[in-house]
Amino acid sequence: MSELSKSLRERAAESISQLRHAVSEFKNVCYANSLGSESMVLTDLIWGAAPEIGREIGPNIGQEIEIFSIDTGRLYPETYDLIDRLQQRYGRSLKIYYPKADDLEGWVGKNGINGFRDSPEQRRGCCGVRKVEPFRRALSGRSAWITGIRRGQSASRALAAPVEWDGAYGLHKVSPLLDWSENEIWEYIRKKRLPYNTLHDSGFPSIGCAPCTRAVQPGEDARSGRWWWERSESRECGLHPRRLTPAVGAAVRAPKH
Ligand code: SF4
Repeated sequence: MSELSKSLRERAAESISQLRHAVSEFKNVCYANSLGSESMVLTDLIWGAAPEIGREIGPNIGQEIEIFSIDTGRLYPETYDLIDRLQQRYGRSLKIYYPKADDLEGWVGKNGINGFRDSPEQRRGCCGVRKVEPFRRALSGRSAWITGIRRGQSASRALAAPVEWDGAYGLHKVSPLLDWSENEIWEYIRKKRLPYNTLHDSGFPSIGCAPCTRAVQPGEDARSGRWWWERSESRECGLHPRRLTPAVGAAVRAPKH
């Protein structure tokens, strides 16, 4: 395995410090793993890299942070393979949440198997049943959730803060990778030979449900491959609505190194 550069080790150490502060400050913390490239870095920071990179004595974040993912039932086969490879690498299992069967049967019965293409409202309805409801269940009882969003991913995410009060879900939202560049994400993945979704090698910067994600051209916004038949401003997934405010005192902002 290649050595991480000094700057990347410092970047990773800062993110681990944010994670440790989140555990100390908020106690009951979970990580919503989207299985994208950023998620491979965050999974490694939580499950694999803390003893190697983290210099401080602090909470064992691998034990303290539950990592979960949502299986909407419409994921790519490559994504299921990735879940299996993560399990093999770390010897641990993601907690997987599924849509409620009754809700899904009702929605499909009313709107059709691909009814999410008919209007933004129906698309949000499908996301609501397949993603948002299981996501709410996963966050239930938690005091903070962690996400792998980066400022460079979209105009709306550029406005995010490292710690925000997430009024939509009623808990804090912590984003330890906000300042990572895409190049840094991939340098970390390649140098540590982490598993990643092989669709990234075919032009998919962002991978969600199979019928709603496609490859993008070089230079296009990374999120432009999602719900491409809709206007761009309506394309957030529902899990990151922009109704957030910075947390008071930005309690888990990492100290500068
Ligand atoms: Fe449904 Fe597409 Fe949303 Fe997946 S991304 S939940 S298939 S609308």
